[in-house]
Parts: sequence; structure tokens; C-alpha cells
Amino acid sequence: MSHSTGPLPLSSFVTTDLAGITRGRSLPTSAVADQLASGCGWVPANSALTPQDIIAEDNPWGSHGDLRLLPDPLSHLRVEQGPDPLAPALDYYHGDLVETDGTPWPVCPRTLLREEIARYRELGLQVTAAFEHEFTLLGLPQATGGAFSLQAQRAAGNFPGWVLSALEQAGADPEMFLPEYGRLQYEVTCRPTQGVVAADRAVNVREVTREIARQMGLGTCFSPLRAPGEVTNGVHLHLSLQSLDGTPRFYDAEQPHNLSELARHWAAGVLRHLPALCALTAPTAVSYLRLKPHHWSAAYACLGLRNREAALRICPVVSLGGKPLARQFNLEFRPMDATASPHLAMAAVLIAGRLGVQERLPLHAVADVDPDSLDASEREALGIRALPGTLEQALQLLQDDHALCAQLPPALLQTYFAMKRQELALTRDLTDDQVCDRYASLY
Ligand code: GLU
Ligand code: MG
Repeated sequence: MSHSTGPLPLSSFVTTDLAGITRGRSLPTSAVADQLASGCGWVPANSALTPQDIIAEDNPWGSHGDLRLLPDPLSHLRVEQGPDPLAPALDYYHGDLVETDGTPWPVCPRTLLREEIARYRELGLQVTAAFEHEFTLLGLPQATGGAFSLQAQRAAGNFPGWVLSALEQAGADPEMFLPEYGRLQYEVTCRPTQGVVAADRAVNVREVTREIARQMGLGTCFSPLRAPGEVTNGVHLHLSLQSLDGTPRFYDAEQPHNLSELARHWAAGVLRHLPALCALTAPTAVSYLRLKPHHWSAAYACLGLRNREAALRICPVVSLGGKPLARQFNLEFRPMDATASPHLAMAAVLIAGRLGVQERLPLHAVADVDPDSLDASEREALGIRALPGTLEQALQLLQDDHALCAQLPPALLQTYFAMKRQELALTRDLTDDQVCDRYASLY
């Protein structure tokens, strides 16, 4: 029997948890085929881990129980070649958390999203989505140039090219790498895709970007605010619905703002539940240093036509180039950041939209102005509510939103609230500077 003389090629089975952190276990790549059907072990209480890696004290699981992290073969990501020729390939499978007999485990965010996508299918609808990520690149050796500048792009050297190469190797359909408004701030986008793959892809963008930076001796910060006064890092979720045969269902050229009746009900559902949704899409103390007026990040629950101060934005369609308009048309959910689990956040937005469709909610709160420029009575007349100002408020709003909570598995909610309360206790006495520092080191 021969023994290996160098590092064994490894593959990982991963789950991206309720705190949006990708965790998992690794095994020899040669052993993956044997393990695909049974996965690897996992511990229920891991789901109650705060981003600070402390398991919430009052979580429902304690030291009991065993789960399996079951890889999804279709989600396999492999990046063979990065900038460091000696670095091992990045190779992992997204997985679902299941009981040892394969029964789905209700706290798994990827399972929640899959089940929600299935509910849309029952309504004859498919979901197309793309997540845009902003982040700060750390460790560049030289002065970096201004907002959106070519100089800022060039200052990043081969980093953008390697990120897009790695995303291409990963099958993530990369679209654009751009210098953003903030100093050292960049953005990477991938093309839209369907269902759970869209949230897997959001994880892949984060992990691939981190991996390329690591291989180049650089660092990344996806946290929504790196330091008080800096430009914020958002995650924007673009969503549209189609019939099962692919016919676009959000676009209607005859209607105001081209919003179909379905899109109006869907948007109304998202707006109705938006203040509470923030507890799942902007879920940390540092998220609320971003969700303020004039950050282009959204501070009010309203729908805006191409308006970047609106929480839900009707995106432009481009008639140049001859691409069909209806296929481009989508709504962008902006009060989201990279401290959220992409699977949980996307599932929550979809649930809210579906409730709007099922209840045929009328659409209010449409504003083409900066909602902060209106006075309180004008906002009230339009039905525009403020988003929560703190994590504590957001959690209370979620707890009080019985219709939304009724759609989430009780065990998931119980674990989530336990974890977030622990996180609140860990951050309550920190200054804004300290909150920014802590989360910059975690995301
Ligand atoms: N940086 C902004 C945010 O925190 C978004 C800017 C943009 O529209 O690209 O969401
Ligand atoms: Mg941007």
C-alpha cells in the first residue's frame, strides 16, 4: 500500500449557518463518493453559535443530539487554480442539515429556502435571484485612487481578475468587478440564477473572494460598516418571478412603473413585513449603523422607482442592445448585508412576498423621492414606515410579526432568538467604533 508524500487533496461539506458563517468538515477528496449519501456528522447546538463563536446559553439543544451534514452533489464548487500555485484547490459541497435517518432538520436555513421555493412552484412560479456584494479590500500596498476610478481598479492589481477567474471556475457566472464609492471598497456581481443556487452562489462569492485575497496576502471585510464615517457595504438581492415555463411575471408594460399585478401584491407583502424582516436580513448590531438615511442603504419601508434610498427598488430595464425588457425587470431588496445568512434572508423575503400575493395585498408606500425628505405626516399618509434603528428593535418587531413568524419553523425561531439575544448581550455595551471593529474581524 502506498502512502502519500504530500498534502492530501481535501474536499469539504459545508453549511452556512443562521449567522451567515460557512462552517463544515473536510475529508480526502478520494473519499467523497463514499460519503455523498450519508454526509458527515454535525451538532445541533452549532446552529446557536453567535458570530463571536459563543453558543447561545438558552438554545434548545444543549449538548444533546446528532445530525448529518448532507452534501448536495449539484452544489459542488471547485476552484483549481488561484494566484498562489502552492495553495490547495478550494473544493466544497453545500449541504443540508438532516436527522441521522435523513429527515430534514427544521433549523437548517438551506432547507427552509428549498421548501419556500417549492411553495412558489406550487403557485406555478419560479424564483430568479442575484446577490450583489460590496466589500472593503484590505492590505493594498499603495495609494488607491478615488471613487469608481480606474486607478482604484488598477490598484487592486490581479485581484479582480483572479476573483472573476475563480468564480468562473466555480460555475458562478461572474458578471462585473467594480471599484465602489468608498475608499478600498469594491463590488462583485454574478448573473441571476434560479432557486437555492442563487443563495449558494452568494456564499460562493464571499468564500471565493476571501480565498483569492488570502492567497495574495490581502484581506477582505464584508461587514456593513468597517469604521464609523466610512461608506457602507451592502448586499442587494435582485428578485423576479417567472411562470414554470420561464415567462416573466413581474413585468407589465401597460401598468404604472411596469409592475404587473403579481409584482404589486408581492412588493406589498415585502413592504408590509419589512420592518420585521430586517431582523433576518440586517441581523447584527453593526447592520444598524448602516441602515440610516442617506447611505443608499434604506431606512424606510417603501418602493422606489430607481431610487436607491428605497428599501425595495424597481430596477431599470435597458432598451439598448436589444435584450428583452420583461426578462430584465426585477425588484431589488436593499436592507441586507453580509452578516445575514443568504439562505435565511432570501427565504424570509420570499415568504413575505408570497403572503402579499396570497392575500392580494394592495400596494402603498411608493415614493419617488428620498423618503427622509418627507415629514412624518407625509410619510404616514403614504404608508411609509421607518425601518428599525437597532437590532433590539428589529428582534422585537420580528417577534411581534405573528404572520411572518407563523411561516418559520418554531425550532428555527427559538434557536435564532436565543442566538441573537446572546449576541445583543455581547455587543450592548460597545461603542460604535468597537462594534465596527468586532464585526470587521468576523465578516
Ligand atoms: N453602499 C450602499 C449600501 O450600503 C449601496 C450603494 C449602491 O447603490 O451601490 O447599500
Ligand atoms: Mg454598489
